[in-house]
Amino acid sequence: MYKCEVCGRTADKHHIVHRSQGGIDFPLNIKHLCHEHHRGKTGPHKNRTTDIQYKLELQDKLHTLLNKEFYKEEELADSLRINTGMARKLVKELKNHKEGYRSKDIIYRLMGEKEYHEYMLEEFCEFIANF
Ligand SMILES: [Zn+2]
Ligand SMILES: [Zn+2]
Repeated sequence: MYKCEVCGRTADKHHIVHRSQGGIDFPLNIKHLCHEHHRGKTGPHKNRTTDIQYKLELQDKLHTLLNKEFYKEEELADSLRINTGMARKLVKELKNHKEGYRSKDIIYRLMGEKEYHEYMLEEFCEFIANF
């Protein structure tokens, strides 16, 4: 049984990059959250700031983890703790250079073909402040 990463209560699996956004079922994309911190007012499904915050955290982790410029499928599978089949699927549509797949492309793909920035949080805060 998993515990909520925020409060420690019994938790469900949350996909940081939602499945509907192209999120993949791999360990780093999973966050354990109780019902309240998952579906409640401050949770990522109802609160855009929380959602973006979790995505920025994941994106940072991926940049730290995949710190080389290029990766081969096997290496990528090891780094992300996924099987080679999944890694192969992941890079299927990416350009294969002779050194391997570019980590920037892999991260972009893992983030659901989106790049997240800190300012996305601020934009929302300003919106709240003016509300
Ligand atoms: Zn909780
Ligand atoms: Zn969720």
